[in-house]
Amino acid sequence: MTISAGSITVVAIDGPAGSGKSSVSKAAAKQLGYDYLDTGAAYRTLAWRCLEEGIDTYGPIDVIESLSSFEFSIGTDPDHYFVRVGSDDVTDDIREPRVSTVVSAVARIPEVRAFMVELFRGIIRSSERDGILVEGRDITTVVAPDADVRILLTASEEARMGRRSAELPGASAEKTARELSFRDAADSQVVDFMNAAEGVTTLDSTELDFDQTVKAVVSLVRTSTQT
Ligand code: C5P
Repeated sequence: MTISAGSITVVAIDGPAGSGKSSVSKAAAKQLGYDYLDTGAAYRTLAWRCLEEGIDTYGPIDVIESLSSFEFSIGTDPDHYFVRVGSDDVTDDIREPRVSTVVSAVARIPEVRAFMVELFRGIIRSSERDGILVEGRDITTVVAPDADVRILLTASEEARMGRRSAELPGASAEKTARELSFRDAADSQVVDFMNAAEGVTTLDSTELDFDQTVKAVVSLVRTSTQT
């Protein structure tokens, strides 16, 4: 199965919650002049919509049925990131804790995953830039296992909890840590994003600051794509 369309470079980045994946990937995509695809946002949007419409997120049949009318748009320009459902901008709404709490239940449904994988591959194929950086949990293994560059971005649990708490200054650090561990544990039952698959480069950012991590990603991409 080949995802890469023509000469477009596909960069796949996986990692647990709080690894800094999203912000690092977005900044690296900007520096490279690539598109950026946040796949977690799609799962979050589906979970958000289920909550809005009173669909039981723990009832697979209702969630699966809702897929037929699931339409959303996501910005792949790293300078103009947005998530919309119809004309509603839900970029911030999908980050609400109530969405984070139920998203894993929605993401574990095989039909939902199959739907999302096709959606992501379509977005990758339609990129008009030199490359696209795609981040999530199963990008290096399922969505784009033949990506030109495959990275697992990790950090110690302590570092991840600390970073996530800094992102959510109003929330208690303990509650944030609990939410993160719970979500990682639930997600790990479905996809292994804690261990690098064969051919995937592990980038441990525990001792790196944000700029150093972005630089490491950009340099991995430049090294791998040099002809
Ligand atoms: O990346 P983010 O933390 O926003 O992802 C939200 C949720 O979406 C994850 O906790 C996981 O349940 C799901 N997800 C997934 N596969 C992906 C990306 C996200 O299952 N490729």
